[in-house]
Amino acid sequence: AKARGKNCYELYNPLQTEETLHAFQMEQDLRLALAHDQLLLHFQPQFSLTNQSLCGLEVLVRWQHPEKGMMPPGQFIPLAEETNLIIPLGWLVIEKTCQQILSWQEQNLMVPPVAVNISPKQLMETDFLQHLNQLLGKYGIAHEQIELEITESLILQDPENVIQRLNTLQAAGYRLALDDFGTGYSSLSRLKQIPLDRLKIDYSFTRDIGKDPKDEAIILTVIALGKSLNIEVLAEGVETQEQYLFLKHHGCDSVQGYLLGHPVASEDLTLPNELVATK
Ligand code: C2E
Ligand code: CA
Ligand code: CA
Ligand code: CA
Repeated sequence: AKARGKNCYELYNPLQTEETLHAFQMEQDLRLALAHDQLLLHFQPQFSLTNQSLCGLEVLVRWQHPEKGMMPPGQFIPLAEETNLIIPLGWLVIEKTCQQILSWQEQNLMVPPVAVNISPKQLMETDFLQHLNQLLGKYGIAHEQIELEITESLILQDPENVIQRLNTLQAAGYRLALDDFGTGYSSLSRLKQIPLDRLKIDYSFTRDIGKDPKDEAIILTVIALGKSLNIEVLAEGVETQEQYLFLKHHGCDSVQGYLLGHPVASEDLTLPNELVATK
């Protein structure tokens, strides 16, 4: 058989056509999902390494697909990004988050800051802040209750504009976290310009604690960076006791991962009671 060169095109590629059809079908399905309330939220706990207490929750969206069952975000967020459906999806996630926080508060439960993943496309919408304020106002949720998780890719786009926007959001009381830190390309000089409450060390570094001294060195560097810039550092994807102890020993502030808790539906989450928490 002859190997085909990189520049050799086929005029008709049945596989590619199938992919296009599949994507188109999925886009229609996703529109229906938004209209018919098939998206639901899971919450993953975050714990402080200084006092072992619950210090946050991350919202992770799921799609309860009528035929395919529960779909993880990796299977539909990329398409949502491509088709701009990520914008209505993002607002739906925020609104559902507000409803959930209100419901917990009405049960006198102590709700730590709740982190939501924000797509760059949504964050850069002209009326993002107004829309966000309006939604929180509707449910009476304090701005400090919400943490916006952004990624480094955002900062590459239009740095000046992004930095200004983040400053405005922080001034309005919202917490800001930089997600998947270490996997993007943003420079350290950029990092000092953006207002951040938290850096999230990516899972790909945490995973190799005890296995790869280079990953360990990177983690120590990020922890030191956080301390010198006065930004809290959280490690994602903590699965083992060894990883947990390494992070605690080296002064990481907080952790999130299967060792401490999987993402779960609100019914399966136990929050401390307000009265107990305040003594
Ligand atoms: P992410 O923001 O980095 O979220 C963390 C992912 O790691 C989640 O996957 C979580 O379930 C998983 N995870 C948590 N602990 C562990 C662990 O100990 N080990 C391992 N191996 N994985 C762990 P999930 O829920 O599949 O979400 C994947 C990605 O989808 C998220 O990555 C985020 O980028 C995106 N995503 C999720 N929800 C939303 C959303 O509402 N809006 C947007 N724009 N993106 C979202
Ligand atoms: Ca995240
Ligand atoms: Ca992450
Ligand atoms: Ca590695």
